[in-house]
Amino acid sequence: MRFVTIAPPDFDVDLDLRYATPDNLTRRPIFARPLCLLRPEAAAALSRSIHLTAAQGLRLRVFDGYRPPAAQWALWNTLPDPTFIADPRIGSSHGRGVAIDLTLALPDGTVLDMGTDFDDMRPIAYHADTSISVTAQRNRALLLGIMVAAGWQHYPFEWWHYQLPDAFSYPLVEDGVLGPSVMGSGKSSPG
Ligand SMILES: [Zn+2]
Repeated sequence: MRFVTIAPPDFDVDLDLRYATPDNLTRRPIFARPLCLLRPEAAAALSRSIHLTAAQGLRLRVFDGYRPPAAQWALWNTLPDPTFIADPRIGSSHGRGVAIDLTLALPDGTVLDMGTDFDDMRPIAYHADTSISVTAQRNRALLLGIMVAAGWQHYPFEWWHYQLPDAFSYPLVEDGVLGPSVMGSGKSSPG
């Protein structure tokens, strides 16, 4: 399996890979390397999203793509709530390389108001929440429209999360088969 590295110039996005920093819900970096990887099918859908976003004079800011199973365990151990964190024993769409967490930004990188930050685990992060400002509701709807038009499915409980249809038909991929480890374990297998 060859995953695609999501980074400029091939993918004109801003990268804000929170799991490579302490700025995530575990309060510590859980990726050793700031790397966004996706399966080729998901990378193609992201290219369509980038095109549609640019046509509106905006940019995409990416928080996470492929998430190794070990990272899923780190998140689950911090917050074992299946509404927000996929049970690592089942695996997540991120562990299959077919999901992405992202938001919209202005050309200068300023993020649009979405009502909450990434990984806010409160009900106001749900797509259909109407207690946030009208501007934030419109911004979420704009991101939703762009992503669905590009071929993604939304997830009702996290405004930032999108995945390919039939995400769970793709296999879970262990870190290490993709080259240098995202988790920085030092272990990797050829190919
Ligand atoms: Zn996600």
